[in-house]
Amino acid sequence: MTDFAALETELLARVETSDQPRSVLRAPELKQLYAQIRDADDKAAFGASVNQLKQSLESAITVREDMLAQLDRAPIDVTAPMDVNAPLPQLAPAARGSIHPISREIAYIVDIFQRMGYVAESSREIDDQYHVFESLNFPKGHPARDDYDTFMTVEQDADGEPLIAPAHTSTMQNRVMKKYRDSLDHGEAIAAIVPDRVFRNEDLDARHEHTFYQVEGIYVARGVHAGMLIATLQTFLEEYYGQKLDVRVNPFYFPFTEPSFEFALSCPFCAGENDSCKVCSGEGWVELLGCGMIHPNVLRAADIDPTEYTGFAFGCGIDRLIMMKHQIEDVRHFESAKLDFLRQF
Ligand SMILES: [Zn+2]
Repeated sequence: MTDFAALETELLARVETSDQPRSVLRAPELKQLYAQIRDADDKAAFGASVNQLKQSLESAITVREDMLAQLDRAPIDVTAPMDVNAPLPQLAPAARGSIHPISREIAYIVDIFQRMGYVAESSREIDDQYHVFESLNFPKGHPARDDYDTFMTVEQDADGEPLIAPAHTSTMQNRVMKKYRDSLDHGEAIAAIVPDRVFRNEDLDARHEHTFYQVEGIYVARGVHAGMLIATLQTFLEEYYGQKLDVRVNPFYFPFTEPSFEFALSCPFCAGENDSCKVCSGEGWVELLGCGMIHPNVLRAADIDPTEYTGFAFGCGIDRLIMMKHQIEDVRHFESAKLDFLRQF
């Protein structure tokens, strides 16, 4: 008499430990059973028991095979920086990369100003109208707002006005003055620059880009006057261009400074001695930036008493500085991702 239960237990155990579970179906014990069907007293009952045993083994084999398939996968190292089982990515050879000229020049500009006692702050790529305009003495409806045509979001700020991609890094003036407000009480100046990205809705050409860079400068203390502003900018520009330069200031208008100036420097390339100079068109002067004494309303908006403290501010296009320094003819090269341009620096 065959003990089907004992045989099933034995064969199932083999299935569960075998790397080739399907081979258990060819076990000699099973072959013997098939042979016994012929001679069995009750062929039908014996055959049914054999079939049941076979089915039980089949389902155990399927389970075991699924499990083995799982084990077949290579282990995953969750600490690896990439999927170790994937083909290695083709990394760009470091030898052929270079720092973007704008990043490099910003680092240099920051270095010069830090040596002059300034801290550097980042700007924002989206801001509210209070910081872009109101805190800078551009009240609602002020016509000068139209000179700062930029991009606005569908989302609105707390006053129900669209948020703005800042058209100048002056958008940080109010925050920077508040952040360092306490320095004034300790007899120290607020001295900060904000070199960062700005946006304008421009018709693009060799001199106009929708995305460009600006360095904003702020200096507030007791007794600050326009002479300090001019000397500061002259010192910076002479350091940046590595040579003595003449500077020229003409009256101008900005809502956030009073008085305001347009600042020009003598052409670093021809000093006015080349009529066909591409940088200054033979004029000998390059209009470079806007600046002025911070408007009392702007100081008040930052909790600074304008009867006690005065300050200056300037805003200078970084792309323009770099274009002049390296005689780059088209501002659009910077954002073009053209490697043959970028690798020259
Ligand atoms: Zn020139």
